[in-house]
Amino acid sequence: MANGKILIVEDERKISDIVKSYLEREGFSVTVAETGEKALQLIKKNFDLMILDLMLPDIDGESICSSLREYSDTPIIMLTAKSSEDQRVKGLGLGADDYVVKPFSPRELVARVKALLRRTGKGEKKILSFNKGALKIDVLSMEVRKGGENISLTSTEFRILLCLAERPQAVLSRLHIVNATHGYDFEGYERVIDAHIKNIRHKIEDDPRKALFIKTVYGAGYKFIGIPD
Ligand code: CA
Repeated sequence: MANGKILIVEDERKISDIVKSYLEREGFSVTVAETGEKALQLIKKNFDLMILDLMLPDIDGESICSSLREYSDTPIIMLTAKSSEDQRVKGLGLGADDYVVKPFSPRELVARVKALLRRTGKGEKKILSFNKGALKIDVLSMEVRKGGENISLTSTEFRILLCLAERPQAVLSRLHIVNATHGYDFEGYERVIDAHIKNIRHKIEDDPRKALFIKTVYGAGYKFIGIPD
């Protein structure tokens, strides 16, 4: 399961509260700094990721980002109302890894947090292996191997498979899967998830009717039943 320690630097209590609760629901441990000064004290501790608002009452987010980058490669997602391309490029130039423009959906932010942690390989195993190596999922290169052979999945299929495989035996609802992989829900998502699962099964199961990896739990969702090595 994807969890880790996250520092939110944000002076608007309403925003930090909601982001904190979304992240905690996903198993992350969250600390909030309401000022730049507090953030600079806290970032010396080990965090797996920082969510950084650019407009703070004392020190601006850009300065915090560059100070942190002098000694640490902790992933940073910048949070800001500044939406012009210039600002975005500037933020990324200062060493931020991703950029979310306000107003944003908390679910989308959580999805980006997970994606960034996955990309940077923090807090998660990099290769998941199941059923004595019959199925291998390489989290960083997004490659899937079945019995040693490369399987070609679309990036959406890969995210769905990974979402399930990260929590073997847990029943995940279609809504959970769509939130975790798309960052938002949309009309008709149930059928979309079902269609993706069908495709994934055709690619990774020997016999899709006798699934060894993805099981349908009627009325509830899907469950990954591969046995971790
Ligand atoms: Ca602010």
